[in-house]
Amino acid sequence: MTQQAAVSSTIHGLVLQPDWLVPIDSPAIFEGFLVASAGTIEHLGAELPERFHALPRIRLEKTAILPGWINSHCHLEFSDLVEPISALGSFDGWLSRVIQQRALVSSQSAEKRLEQRRHAIRQGLIESWKHGVRWIVDNVTAPWDPAWISHLQSEMRSEISTLAASSLVPDALISVQPCFELIDVREERWHQTHNFALEQIDAPKWQGVCSPGLAPHAPYTASTHVTRCAADWSSENRGLVSMHLAESREELQWLDHRTGFLGAWIETKIDAHHRSNIGTIDEHLRLLASAWRSLVVHGNFLTKHQVDWLREHYERMAVVYCPRTHAWFHHPPYPLSDLKSRGIAVFLGTDSRASNPDLNLWEEVKEIASRRAECEPSDLARMITSDASRFLDIPRKIGRMELGGASQLTAMRWNQSDGADAALRTESELWRWMVQSGVPYPLEMDDRFALAAHRN
Ligand SMILES: [Zn+2]
Repeated sequence: MTQQAAVSSTIHGLVLQPDWLVPIDSPAIFEGFLVASAGTIEHLGAELPERFHALPRIRLEKTAILPGWINSHCHLEFSDLVEPISALGSFDGWLSRVIQQRALVSSQSAEKRLEQRRHAIRQGLIESWKHGVRWIVDNVTAPWDPAWISHLQSEMRSEISTLAASSLVPDALISVQPCFELIDVREERWHQTHNFALEQIDAPKWQGVCSPGLAPHAPYTASTHVTRCAADWSSENRGLVSMHLAESREELQWLDHRTGFLGAWIETKIDAHHRSNIGTIDEHLRLLASAWRSLVVHGNFLTKHQVDWLREHYERMAVVYCPRTHAWFHHPPYPLSDLKSRGIAVFLGTDSRASNPDLNLWEEVKEIASRRAECEPSDLARMITSDASRFLDIPRKIGRMELGGASQLTAMRWNQSDGADAALRTESELWRWMVQSGVPYPLEMDDRFALAAHRN
């Protein structure tokens, strides 16, 4: 580790030299240089131009730097669950246990509910950030307050050195893209959720809360009326629509035949207006295609012609696969290769801690890599970085390691104990190690920044 210039809190630029720079969209660079200044990538390459020679320089041995992760589907509100909710039996059994969990919370005083929700979101955000996530598409229900996310940024900032903070992440450390959940099982639910969504979308902006969107919950709780409203809003405002679709067999039985366990459960909850507007998967897909951008969350049971439809609208529609949640419900194998070979964008999400033991997005990549030898690790990584960043039109190129983009980056570091050889000398060795043993962290949390600042 070398330190070639005096470090003071007034310096906002920094030169980093890790073993590997892995932009993912372009070939990895061995022992190259990355220059970050006031939160922006100023240089990326095998050589260091002279104009940067006076900046502080830190050699990051046994380390790879990658773009920041993007979690394309989550419910942060369940992040205080210690373990996932049992999925034994059926999907509706799991759903009613999740709703019981929510009902327990709603029987408490408004103040307690608010505090519990704030606490859960805080835990989920900190956990995500510590695993290298920089952007989360979050399904949001009331109560919720964007100020929680903004205040948390300064709390997390206290854990990093001034040098890393000023050079790499002077603004938000992690951003939430809230998609406000819309439900119309009864008229009053529609008014509640719709009013709350509009209120939040029009509210003043807070640091770390960006690009709000809408989330018709699922076709058994949101009718075609809801999806149409969300899609219209999306095309007028260039906003995101995210919807759970074709997730379980029970859902399809209800939509196609009004039968099955989910039907018995939902029948008692809906009014006549909802009932007369229940849509099929095809109908919801048709409506979502008119949105500016839509995410079809799960899509575990899409038929061939529905996949054809997505293919036709690939610029505006993408699918979010949640691998560990998918495994939690023991669904049939996910058609990942089929979707990707058809040119359909597939991104990854953790879903919530109600169906996943943690919010470590890299574990989703590892889950796929461990089951599918045919998948190129770099293609999997693209699903949580550059591909998602472009599709979602994420500001400041978060999720991409590019000149002029944000220096919100993710790193992985190998050492004595994790089985990695002292030197991972080729890009393929590096990828193999990362998908087997890599543990990501936000680059600014690397303790070598604090050590470097200390030396001067
Ligand atoms: Zn979900």
